[in-house]
Amino acid sequence: MALIVQKFGGSSVANRDRLFNVARIVANTHNEGNDVVVVVSAQGDTTDDLIAKAGEITHDPSKRELDMLLATGEQISIALLAMALAEIGCSAISLTGWQAGFHTDRAYSRARIKDLDTERIESELARNRVVVVAGFQGLNRYDDITTLGRGGSDTSAVAIAAALHADLCQIYTDVDGVYTADPRVVPNARKLDTITFDEMLELASLGAQVLNNRSVELAKKYSVNLEVRSSLTNVPGTIVKEVVDVEGMLIKGVAKDDKVAAVSILEVPDQPGISFKVFSLMAQNKINIGIILQSVGRSGNKDLLFTVPLEDAPLTQRLLEENRSRFGGREIKVDTDVAKVSIVGAGMQSHPGVASKMFETLYENNINIQMIATSEIKLSVIIKKEEADRAVAAVHDAFFR
Ligand code: ADP
Ligand code: ASP
Ligand code: MG
Repeated sequence: MALIVQKFGGSSVANRDRLFNVARIVANTHNEGNDVVVVVSAQGDTTDDLIAKAGEITHDPSKRELDMLLATGEQISIALLAMALAEIGCSAISLTGWQAGFHTDRAYSRARIKDLDTERIESELARNRVVVVAGFQGLNRYDDITTLGRGGSDTSAVAIAAALHADLCQIYTDVDGVYTADPRVVPNARKLDTITFDEMLELASLGAQVLNNRSVELAKKYSVNLEVRSSLTNVPGTIVKEVVDVEGMLIKGVAKDDKVAAVSILEVPDQPGISFKVFSLMAQNKINIGIILQSVGRSGNKDLLFTVPLEDAPLTQRLLEENRSRFGGREIKVDTDVAKVSIVGAGMQSHPGVASKMFETLYENNINIQMIATSEIKLSVIIKKEEADRAVAAVHDAFFR
């Protein structure tokens, strides 16, 4: 007998048939003698629809009220799944995030889990019930509802698995596992049998939405056994773990993130303190910086370029313009028409020529690179948004043909 956490994403619970499909997977696991905690997301496009509803009222909703609204999506799913489980004879109880013990920090819409009190989940498991928990939500210290950021149900599931020392955490989704690129964009992408936490963390952070990056961070920290698999086909998925057997693959995947904006501040004075002033301003306003580039100083000036999340582009523009007198600069540009395309793989560390192969491929496809960033296991380029899918396909072809 094992303790298994199973998470089902929005498409897996989208309608009645899908809910009963999920109920059967869960009931089978339970009938095999396992304790099961299930985490579910909102059905189908519910979260997007709720955001659109808020948009009918205001362009700038209070983040507290938006979280109050978005958390309702997951609450529908848990109740319906618990009913479906009862209908097929499996004893189950639904719990909201707060009933399940999720305490978060105050950051509405991107809250972090601070503490998970598993007492209620454990007492329900002890009564041989399947426990169905609403993903993506928690409560802050003012007893207000918070949400964990888009894709946050993955993080809820991994957090429960970590806290309960579960034997396995299965992330069920609408693809068979983690692929070498988004299989919807690159039809000949291959499924990976295994991938390391570090590689998966990079892929997730660089736009492969199949797993939320915080969930991977948590899984690595607490050594959670993680599997990504399909709720629609019964085939083995991808195992995410600390070390994987050498598969001879230099690169594990190609990812695209088109939710970035490129900021340039042209001709700031070439003197100490400029970067500090710009980036402390960003940090004070909780804007995450991606790639940073600074040109060599010329005639006493230099250019500062960096990326920010697309959603922070308007705020970034406003802050930089309002505070321009502090750091100078001839022109501030915020380009929202860009995307980041990245390759990820631990094999890059020991194999020269990976970067040149990527650049050659982009050159052959007449795609201009605006910025480049590297780490030990990833290489990212910023290019025009409209060229991103073509770039992903070409780069994937170059490395996986
Ligand atoms: P869920 O609703 O189950 O959480 P998501 O839509 O968040 O599902 O994530 C699954 C989607 O991630 C897939 O449908 C696929 O299009 C996309 N995806 C992006 N990159 C990858 C990748 N490298 N491997 C698998 N899926 C990917
Ligand atoms: N329903 C939330 C979202 O769409 C959380 C999740 O699906 O993980 O982002
Ligand atoms: Mg998801």
